[in-house]
Amino acid sequence: MKVAIYCRVSTLEQKEKGYSIDEQQRKLKSFCDINDWTVYNTYIDPGFSGGNLDRPAFKEMINDMDKFDLVLVYKLDRMTRNVRDLLDTLDKFEKNDVAFRSATEVYDTTNAMGRLFVTLVGAMAEWERTTITERTTMGRRAAAKKGIPVSRVPFFYDKRDGKLYPNEYKEVIDFAVNEVIKGTSVRKITNQLNHSQYKPPSGKLWYKNMILSALKSPIARGHSVYEDILVENTHEPVISNEDYNIIQQRISDRTNSKTIKHPAIFKTKIVCPNCNSRLTMGTSKHKLKNGTEWYAKYYFCDKCKFDKNVTGINIKEDEVEKVFVDYLSKLDLESYKVNVEEKKNGSIIDIDKIMNQRKKYHELYAMDMMQEEELFTFIKETDVLIAQYEKQKDDKLDVTTELDKVKNIKNIITDTWENLNVLEKQEFINLSVKNIYVTYVRGKRGRTPNSINIDDITFY
Ligand SMILES: [Zn+2]
Repeated sequence: MKVAIYCRVSTLEQKEKGYSIDEQQRKLKSFCDINDWTVYNTYIDPGFSGGNLDRPAFKEMINDMDKFDLVLVYKLDRMTRNVRDLLDTLDKFEKNDVAFRSATEVYDTTNAMGRLFVTLVGAMAEWERTTITERTTMGRRAAAKKGIPVSRVPFFYDKRDGKLYPNEYKEVIDFAVNEVIKGTSVRKITNQLNHSQYKPPSGKLWYKNMILSALKSPIARGHSVYEDILVENTHEPVISNEDYNIIQQRISDRTNSKTIKHPAIFKTKIVCPNCNSRLTMGTSKHKLKNGTEWYAKYYFCDKCKFDKNVTGINIKEDEVEKVFVDYLSKLDLESYKVNVEEKKNGSIIDIDKIMNQRKKYHELYAMDMMQEEELFTFIKETDVLIAQYEKQKDDKLDVTTELDKVKNIKNIITDTWENLNVLEKQEFINLSVKNIYVTYVRGKRGRTPNSINIDDITFY
């Protein structure tokens, strides 16, 4: 049984009760030792209240849920003081086959009594939750029907005494409306705003979506909306109905002319050698003399394209494809196998020896021949080794399946790649390849194209 220990103490509790993290941790570790459980990890949130779940170690634990079998706390209220959060969390645990236990109370989801208890608590909270939402939704709907604004107030209005009044951002809306009617794209308008004296209502920049949703908003035309309720003419509009109709036309004209979707075969697979984010595909339109259009497709890094300190990446998709197929067809499965094994094995951990040592230390501690601190340092060290050992065990099983998988992929690529169309290629890569690690090779102007060397590929 692999256990995640969770400890929390709020600042106030620390001060008032001298309730310490160390103490919780110590007791829980012994609790695990008595039960012969392995501590997978200890998650500690010092100085956080139990009123919500916004705590770093707690979140980390939820993320790690597939790595342990049981969550152990000293008392239930260490995990949360909020019944709803408790239920949500227990639900998550259950879905992931993780049991939950409090060392000092009966909330033990590994037995029937504990489960019954949790279910009862759950039913009560559920009832409480639904009545509250029913009440609030009904209240809001009633208000909405009367034309009282209950939705979020758009940035170009202020709310005073339950009514909306246009504010100084009306100018921005006027500007955007005029530009769109002239045929300017929303992207360009956003850009113009970012270079204008108009500061965005929040943050540092204007975003395309802020403008676009303002232009489409029924609230801007003086109506109130809430869910399916629309009450017309409840406040002063900032966009007239005539303008709105033209805007709609302009926006749909633009989007219709831009619907060409370009599949990217290696979408989100190539790791940028500079910043580790994924390369994005870009296209540029070209026209042949006879009038036919074609698109050049290339990969680049969206994140470091503006970074002056790194070489900008720009590789044609054909080139990536060529290198990729070449890499796989030349991949020597024998040496690949050796590589995988080396990567995975490292040194072998002698688990029996560790467990025996642990037992011995406990005996020494029980006989008062060893300091508590020493014992816990030792347990901490061996916990790390035990976790490594567990991982090694898993990895060993993997080598053979990993090899079969790669062999399969290699065969498919060498035999059928040429016959696949772009979408099929994209789907195949999407399903079989996890990461492509590369080194960028800059081409020589006019002679060789920009390219990559593949350093490693990981597969699903
Ligand atoms: Zn990058």
